[in-house]
Amino acid sequence: MSGAIYNREAETLGADARAALQLERLRRSVAWAVERVPFHRERLGAARVERLADLAALPFMRKSDLREHYPFGLFAVEPRELARVHASSGTKGKPTVVGYTAGDLHVWREVMARVMVAAGARSGDMLHVAYGYGLFTGGLGFHDGAERLGMTVVPVSSGNTARHHLLLQDLRPAGLGATPSFALHIAESLAEQGGDPRALGIRYGMFGAEPWTEGLRAALERAYGCHAFDVYGLSEIIGPGVAGECEAREGLHVCDDHFLPEVVDPATGTPCAPGTEGELVLTTLTKRALPMIRYRTGDITTLTTGPCACGRTSARIARIKGRADDMLVVKGVNLYPSEVEAALLAVEDLQPHYLLLVDRTATLARLEVQVEPAPALLERCGGFQPDHPLLGAVQRRVAARLREVTGLTIELTLVAPHTIPRSEGKAVRVVEKH
Ligand SMILES: [Zn+2]
Repeated sequence: MSGAIYNREAETLGADARAALQLERLRRSVAWAVERVPFHRERLGAARVERLADLAALPFMRKSDLREHYPFGLFAVEPRELARVHASSGTKGKPTVVGYTAGDLHVWREVMARVMVAAGARSGDMLHVAYGYGLFTGGLGFHDGAERLGMTVVPVSSGNTARHHLLLQDLRPAGLGATPSFALHIAESLAEQGGDPRALGIRYGMFGAEPWTEGLRAALERAYGCHAFDVYGLSEIIGPGVAGECEAREGLHVCDDHFLPEVVDPATGTPCAPGTEGELVLTTLTKRALPMIRYRTGDITTLTTGPCACGRTSARIARIKGRADDMLVVKGVNLYPSEVEAALLAVEDLQPHYLLLVDRTATLARLEVQVEPAPALLERCGGFQPDHPLLGAVQRRVAARLREVTGLTIELTLVAPHTIPRSEGKAVRVVEKH
C-alpha cells in the first residue's frame, strides 16, 4: 500500500526508537504531574519510572477523579495559561472540564491531521464537519486538524438535517466528519426525500465519538458509496485524534508518541496479553495543562503492536466494542447497550427513551427493546395505535438494524408515550430477568 503519511518520521519510527521516545516522554510527563499537581504528588511522589514496564505499577485515574477535582484541581498550569477549555456533558451533575495550553492545541492539531491523512484526507479537499461544535471536542477537534492539514473546512455542526442535505449537495465536499449514527441518518433522510446520497461524491467518512460496528460501516459505505473510517478519542485525553484507521483498516493506529496505550482486565486491573480483550488505559506523554497518568477510559478493545501494511509502526487498537461497565453476555455474544442505543438514536421516528429487557429464564436468553415512538410518527398514525401499519414498518426496519449492529435477534416493541420510566442523571436502561 502506498497511502500518504502526515508525519512520516513520527509515524514510522522503529520499535527501539519509539520505545526510547516513549520512555523519555513518560518520565517527563510523570515528573511534570508530580511537580505541579498535589493529586499526583500524593500518589506518584515515590514512584520510579526507569523502564516502560514500570508504568504498570502506577495507580489508575478515573473519571471520578476529574469530577472530584472540578473544575481545575488536576490541572498542572494556572487557568490564565490555558488557551482553551472544553467540557463533557455531566450525566451526574457537574461536567468534567478539560483544558489545553497553546502547545497542547498544537499537539491536538498534529494528531488529528495524522488521523485524517490516514483516512485519505488531503490538503485542498473540502471537509464537511457534522460533529457538534462547542464544549464537545468533536467539532473543533476535526476543524482544527483539517485547517492544519490545509483542507477547506465547512463547520456545519450537528443537528438541522435539512441544512446538511443542502450543503452536501451544493458544496460537494470530499470528506464527511460525523458520528456514524448521525451520518446514517443524514443519508437515510435524504434518500427518503428522493435524494441520492451516493451522488454527493463523498469519498471518505471519518466517523467516531460513539461505539459502532462493522455492520454500521457496511451500511454507511453502501449509503454514501464512500470509504468509512473509524476515529477514536476522548476529551479527557485530548479529544478526537487519539487513534484512527489507515487504509488497511485492521485496527486504529494510536498516536502512541503522545498517548501511551495499555489494555487491562477491567475487573482486576492487570495488563492483558496482546490481542486479549480488555479496558483501554491511556497515559498522556506530552500534554501539559492536564496530564493524565493511566486513565481508565472504560472502553473495551484489544491492543496489537504487529506491523501494518500501511507502513506505520504505531500500536493499534481494535474498534471499541463498548463500555466496560455495561457489557452483557447474551447467547455467548458480548452485547453493549451503547450499540443498541446508537442504533435507536439514529432513527428519527423514535424517542431516546428505551429499555433493554434480557429474559434469562428460558434456555436461550430472549432480548427485547421497548422504545417510544416520536410525536411526529404518532401524529401520522393519528395517535398511539399498536397495530397501525406505519408503526409496524418502523418496528421491522429498526429490528433489522439492531440485528445488523449487534449480531443478535432483538424483539422491538413500540410502547405508548411516557411508558418508559424517566430518571434524573444516568437512566436505567437494562432490566435482567433471571
Ligand atoms: Zn496501518
